[in-house]
Amino acid sequence: MAMTDKTANPVDVAVIGGGPAGLTAALYAGRALLSVRVIEGMGTGGQMFTTAVVENYPGLGVVDGPTISQKMEAQAREWGAEIEFGQVQGISGSLETGFTLDMGEGNEPILARTVIVASGSTPRKLGVPGEEEFQGRGVSYCATCDGAFFRDKRLIVVGGGDSAVEEGLFLTRFAKSVTIVHRRDELRASPVLQQRARDNEKMQFIWNSVVEAIQGNKTVNGVVLRNVKTNEITNLDIDGVFVYIGQNPNVSFLNGLVELDGMGFIQAGEDCVTSVPGIFAAGDVRTKPLRQIVTAVADGAVAAMQAEQLLAVSKG
Ligand code: NAP
Repeated sequence: MAMTDKTANPVDVAVIGGGPAGLTAALYAGRALLSVRVIEGMGTGGQMFTTAVVENYPGLGVVDGPTISQKMEAQAREWGAEIEFGQVQGISGSLETGFTLDMGEGNEPILARTVIVASGSTPRKLGVPGEEEFQGRGVSYCATCDGAFFRDKRLIVVGGGDSAVEEGLFLTRFAKSVTIVHRRDELRASPVLQQRARDNEKMQFIWNSVVEAIQGNKTVNGVVLRNVKTNEITNLDIDGVFVYIGQNPNVSFLNGLVELDGMGFIQAGEDCVTSVPGIFAAGDVRTKPLRQIVTAVADGAVAAMQAEQLLAVSKG
């Protein structure tokens, strides 16, 4: 497919975000013979790229995040998707007039007939003293990226969900010990992960506790924990902190354009339709009960189909 002129010819579909939802939307839009441009901020794959092991994507068995990300990107490109790197700063316009994506000062805006927002979410931060100071020096949000730096080290993982347990298990490959610090006495993670964590001799748990501060010299050497039931404060000597306490949706560039739910995710149902005609939401950024690669790719397909149908109607 020929490169589209960004300003003169609007693309049929602009996809914001190159994670599983965005790349699948691009694949489906491409296969529907629509012109499609994916705008990605960091690198394709999104959070999938930084996932150590994916083992619940049907048909692939066990696969690592980078591999599945590269395959999805290649498949979207094969069907004509253009992928460019940049940060969308804002969206204006309407279905009638077409949409303009502001790409920031000095960059040409992107014109699009429809927009699929698949911008995903970003790891939530603890917001405690030392977290920012020691980021990259013992504080991490990505076990795949940083795990190998912690051979024979003592680590804590904060959180009790799938990510905390799954990535904690991955970290046991390198670390001497991995202690899950969770604010309750029960994990949120799926039973199979919980079982694996209990069976792993390198894994330990500290229940009903939160991190109050992260300490160190050049790198992290300890954390201050508070038991939320007793308020007891303890100091724990450790070498690294991995934070997995959930996600914040990436919606700041929308500037209130589409309706959000109470948690800040884009209000859209299974049809991925948002409050603004012509703008769809797919993947983790949308209100949904289950945030998985498999549900993200499903959203991508649905959103592309919705865009295709809308364009067919508006073209008459
Ligand atoms: P999550 O399911 O929202 O879990 C976040 C965890 O962090 C919860 O245990 C929560 O505690 C805790 N937490 C939240 N705020 C905290 C704070 N300020 N201080 C301390 N702890 C805090 O997030 P996630 O694990 O990142 O998963 C996100 C989504 O991706 C989920 O839908 C998950 O199922 C999915 N996912 C699936 C897989 C898989 O299927 N293999 C892997 C990774 C992620 P509470 O439990 O007390 O609320």
